[in-house]
Amino acid sequence: MNLNERFNQVLAEIGEAAMAAGRPADSVNLIAVSKTHPVSLVDELAQLGQVHFAENRIAELTEKQAAARATGLQWHLIGQLQTNKVKLLNAGTILHSLDRLSLAEKLQQQFAADNIRCLIQVNCSGEPNKSGVAPADFDALAEAIAKKPAIRVLGLMTMAEHSDDERVVRRAFADLRELSERLAAQKIFPGYENWLSMGMSGDFRYAIAEGATHVRIGTAIFGHR
Ligand SMILES: *Cc1c(COP(=O)(O)O)cnc(C)c1O
Repeated sequence: MNLNERFNQVLAEIGEAAMAAGRPADSVNLIAVSKTHPVSLVDELAQLGQVHFAENRIAELTEKQAAARATGLQWHLIGQLQTNKVKLLNAGTILHSLDRLSLAEKLQQQFAADNIRCLIQVNCSGEPNKSGVAPADFDALAEAIAKKPAIRVLGLMTMAEHSDDERVVRRAFADLRELSERLAAQKIFPGYENWLSMGMSGDFRYAIAEGATHVRIGTAIFGHR
């Protein structure tokens, strides 16, 4: 399959998963993860109508933002961000990996005049090598972020465990949804949009079944890295 065919297959599978969950197909947004792939493929996919793109490294993100010929793209940063690299982030990018207070403090300093849209990343699977705030520390972090007016929290992000057990994978996604519902009820973030950024090439069907609003898909669109 070529890029066009893989892209359309992914869109169809997202639509089917949404229907199966009793959700409208357009309630799930596709974020194309272009990491390690050339910017020419970003432009090619943009030609086919794709708007949302993500990178996991800030250096590669800024390179592609500068080099892409397509206009009107929405970029997302989905990998860990070191505080000393916050200055490289531009205000139009949506950050999915806000996971600690030191990063929130740096973002507040850097974007005091602008606002920066963020998702709080939660380590729902509890794996020690995964980034994201532990669910037990989530409330304290959310309350601290709520005191930083430059940070506009839109929702939450997680990565599930790599597992063949559907229940294990879905539990992580369901946990994120429950955290988000609780957060929305607390009303500590004005303009909270209940975004649930969850699901990758291997598990996006389960994520959609559990309420994902944004799936982050690389391999199934661009091929192996
Ligand atoms: C690479 C990456 C993805 C996409 O993974 P695929 O398996 O290639 O679809 C999604 N989320 C994050 C945080 C990633 O780093």
